[in-house]
Amino acid sequence: MNNEEIVAEGKKYVMNTYGRLPMAIVKGKGASVWDADGKEYLDFVSGIAVNNVGHCHPKVVQAIAAQAETLFHCSNLYWIEPQVKLAKILVENSAFDKVFFCNSGAEANEGALKLARKYAKKHLGEDKYEIITMKKSFHGRTLATLTATGQDKFHKGYEPLPEGFQYAPFNDLDALQEAIGPHTCAVMLEPVQGEGGVMPGEESFIKGVRELCDRHHLLFIVDEVQCGLGRTGKLFAYQHYGVEPDIMTLAKALGGGAPIGALLAKEEVANAFQPGDHASTFGGNPLVTAAGVAALTAILEEGMVDNSAMVGEYLIHKLECLRHKFDFIKEVRGKGLLVGVECAKEVAPVVASCQEKGLLLLSAGPHVLRFVPPLNITFTQVDQAVAILEQAFDS
Ligand SMILES: *Cc1c(COP(=O)(O)O)cnc(C)c1O
Repeated sequence: MNNEEIVAEGKKYVMNTYGRLPMAIVKGKGASVWDADGKEYLDFVSGIAVNNVGHCHPKVVQAIAAQAETLFHCSNLYWIEPQVKLAKILVENSAFDKVFFCNSGAEANEGALKLARKYAKKHLGEDKYEIITMKKSFHGRTLATLTATGQDKFHKGYEPLPEGFQYAPFNDLDALQEAIGPHTCAVMLEPVQGEGGVMPGEESFIKGVRELCDRHHLLFIVDEVQCGLGRTGKLFAYQHYGVEPDIMTLAKALGGGAPIGALLAKEEVANAFQPGDHASTFGGNPLVTAAGVAALTAILEEGMVDNSAMVGEYLIHKLECLRHKFDFIKEVRGKGLLVGVECAKEVAPVVASCQEKGLLLLSAGPHVLRFVPPLNITFTQVDQAVAILEQAFDS
């Protein structure tokens, strides 16, 4: 089928929940993808920070093929070898002790909210259940995680929402302190906000959150579904700030494209979950965790974290040069290869124009362009992308 045929049948048979561009991606290799008409694109979307190791990374392809020939799925009633291996790599490279696997970012955050409540009720008191999240955050689309998401547009039409959530502005420690009440049990935030406009947490804020949490006996949960796994130039974004959170969630890039999420916690917190307290049929199944081991190994062994830091800095520099040329660019910001350009005008036409010219870009809200290429992107590919963007700005 060509683009037009796929789009037509898609409109007929698939629910209308996404604002999609009129094209279908049918093939990918590294930082390139091809649509159903055979046109090639430079991919600075990466499936929204999923393809951190690039498309069809040979290690991931090989791991999935080998695992598919051996065992696709078995229940968590039994131990699963690749799941154990992936948990071990995550624990050995982070501040956490135990891992629970699930299928998505929303499910990981749902698990984090449940773990925080379970822990708080056991250790802090029956009346501790409230979670404070940040305005402009994004935590997922289940009822609990969309409620945790501090943006009204995601709440509309789904009321009544679950109880027990409070919101505070990001990067404002005084406001957070004021939001803490007698029922608060945890603070949850993205160290670098993604969907909400690519907004890095300030060092004094993230450090301050840790201190506030310690002082008030609250759990500190970081949602690294988007900013984790090398995206910001460290393996985990919290590592920029010299703090250790109590709980972290991962998903997007964890399986190199295979659907997997994870919830990590410090030993004492993780122990609040006992057999029967939480579960997921597909969570951490052999196929996706084999992919995860391969993807994470590639990130760690192929210099992708350092490349993310280095090329990310170069991308920001190149975009700063554009800012001096185009006065509608208000700000360039980000960490590593999670970069945003805030504009004084709507960016949707720029995204569409770049797509026509062979560059896939993403927005983060109406006014921010978001750049999330694979972590092994090269300086040359950044030059190509910025040249296309410049043409799109000019037209
Ligand atoms: C994408 C995202 C989620 C939701 O992940 P899904 O896999 O779509 O459920 C949660 N938190 C953050 C920070 C995200 O970027």
